[in-house]
Amino acid sequence: MVLIKPYYRDDRLRIIDSISSTMESLLLKDNVNNNDLDSAARTIIGNNVCAIIYNENNKSIYYPPDSLGQLCMLDKQINIEDETFIIRENPENFIERIKKENPYSITLNSQLTNTEMLLYGKQIKTNLANYYLILNTPLEPVESYIDFIMNQYLYLAIIVMLISLVVAFFLARRISSPIVQMKNEANKLAMGNYDAKFETNSFSEINDLASTLDDATEKLSKVNDLRKDLVANVSHDIKTPLTMIKAYAEMIKDISGNDPEKRNEHLDVIIQETEYLDKLVSDMSELSKLQSGIIELNLNNFDLKKCVNNVVLLLSNLIKEKNINLVLDLDDCVVYADEIKISQVIYNYLSNALKYSEDNSKIIIKTIDDEDKVRLEVKDEGSGIPQDALPYIWDRYYKVDKNFNRSVNSTGLGLAIAKAILEAHKAKYGVESIEKQGSTFYFELSKDYEEEN
Ligand code: ADP
Repeated sequence: MVLIKPYYRDDRLRIIDSISSTMESLLLKDNVNNNDLDSAARTIIGNNVCAIIYNENNKSIYYPPDSLGQLCMLDKQINIEDETFIIRENPENFIERIKKENPYSITLNSQLTNTEMLLYGKQIKTNLANYYLILNTPLEPVESYIDFIMNQYLYLAIIVMLISLVVAFFLARRISSPIVQMKNEANKLAMGNYDAKFETNSFSEINDLASTLDDATEKLSKVNDLRKDLVANVSHDIKTPLTMIKAYAEMIKDISGNDPEKRNEHLDVIIQETEYLDKLVSDMSELSKLQSGIIELNLNNFDLKKCVNNVVLLLSNLIKEKNINLVLDLDDCVVYADEIKISQVIYNYLSNALKYSEDNSKIIIKTIDDEDKVRLEVKDEGSGIPQDALPYIWDRYYKVDKNFNRSVNSTGLGLAIAKAILEAHKAKYGVESIEKQGSTFYFELSKDYEEEN
């Protein structure tokens, strides 16, 4: 209501202004006819305005139909400054006022509706004659009009509220349902179910959260797999030597105690099993240190040829034992790496080659000096590795032949350690192998190692 009144008043004044200028421009035309005036009159009908045009002789020349009806003040008795008018019957006095003050406008109170009315007069001078345009319109909306508008507003407000409620409901559901789903999946995860899946949604924050949680689930699941794997393998790998140690110790106690030859034989088994356990434990701790990133590389320039020779020396007994024809095809080449760790890798490659080769066979260790890197290959003519096992041999505890004689010191961790070391160096590594023909294990080291960040 407070808003409607001033708006209505401004609107009226604007309409009166526009009707007045339309009429003026029409009358100024040389050959104005009633058709032109009729089309202009449409705005009068549609806008709650009544009008009349007089000529110089106070004769009404045009009285367009209007929608004001009974409210029109042009044929009613009105008082202006103690003077009484009925414009339609007696226009001279009002026209006099227009002549004095052009345009003339005055607001009056309608007796009928008790609303403010605007009376407006304008003299229009043309070449041929003078005309007087008189317009009348209410300046306040009538009650029924206000009621109508208020009703419209009310309906509109109810409709807008309903629409917003529906939109808010769906929006809230769209936001809350993925969060509820995430909560349920997180509960699953908390119960140790790693199949939990966090669905993405069109809201980017929820998406980010879902993918972070998915990522966390995947990592947790991997850690869990690793833990299970570790427990299973460790218990298996530790249990077997322990059983052997127990069995042989009991045999010494019950049977071979007094027979030095038998006793020594049994003690040898115990020593061998203890050595295996010792190696297993140190390999496990080495690998976990490497994988957790605790160990930092001690990078230096060193001669790879010297490094290979040292490893060969360490394994010389075994080489002799198996009567292996070891061919060293080595260049003098300096690489930038962690010497001790790389020695470990070479040791592992060579000891595996020895382990899986027949007696009297050939093993070649070769360096290939490329522009900025050196490739080292350990080639054997041993058992080779089946193609389908190749991707897994670098995994911890993976052994191609699960029943392979344990006395050859096979923990299944050697290549996993080599892989961790080479990956820490960001070195290329791999194996080419044909079953029953042999394998070639290799790695490539930079001559100028630059740590990539
Ligand atoms: P392991 O202690 O059992 O040798 P590794 O991690 O060093 O453990 O090797 C994993 C598996 O890869 C071995 O069990 C073996 O089956 C296979 N392997 C590794 N090197 C060779 C090789 N030179 N020839 C044939 N098989 C090999």
